[in-house]
Amino acid sequence: MAVFATLFGRMAGRLSPKHVAETLESHVGAVPNPLSERSKNLRPRIDGAKMVKSVCPYCAVGCGQRVYVKDNKVIDIEGDYDSPINGGCLCPKGAASYQLAMNERRRTKVMYRRPYGTEWEERSLEWAMARVAQLTYETREETFRERDEQGRTLNHTLGIGSLGGATLDSEENYLITKLFHSLGMVAIENQARI
Ligand code: SF4
Repeated sequence: MAVFATLFGRMAGRLSPKHVAETLESHVGAVPNPLSERSKNLRPRIDGAKMVKSVCPYCAVGCGQRVYVKDNKVIDIEGDYDSPINGGCLCPKGAASYQLAMNERRRTKVMYRRPYGTEWEERSLEWAMARVAQLTYETREETFRERDEQGRTLNHTLGIGSLGGATLDSEENYLITKLFHSLGMVAIENQARI
């Protein structure tokens, strides 16, 4: 065992950075820093960009992000290392936020497919909001029940439901639950269960 220990000790000594540096200096001379001109002039892609702090839009964990903007365009999004929540890390979804924000395939218009339709049609946001309001009104009128068969108070509708997303914040959830419960809806669900 002592022989092995000595052998490994000598090998480790010969491979140590100090030994390698000494050997190079005694056999080759001073080794210059091997940075090329190109490497010296390289700049990170966020060089000169303005940094804006933000929060990941995906889930209720609320990881901090740094959004870099140059010439009024988002050029990069990374984790905020000042955030006590994520300390600079992002999960794969949050790390792909840039592709969510800057994506030419992202829909920016309301798309509507009429009943039995096979094609999507472009509509204005005003048209979509009015349609949602109209359908909500009509469905509630048709399905609202004040009492059950035994005369017990219900005041609810089972004809309308709401499925929220984890990115909704406390204020939005407050408004949602206030409005929907006022309408008598009971099927109000959120993927994050907040
Ligand atoms: S989706 Fe990922 S990065 Fe975004 S807040 Fe949730 S855990 Fe954080």
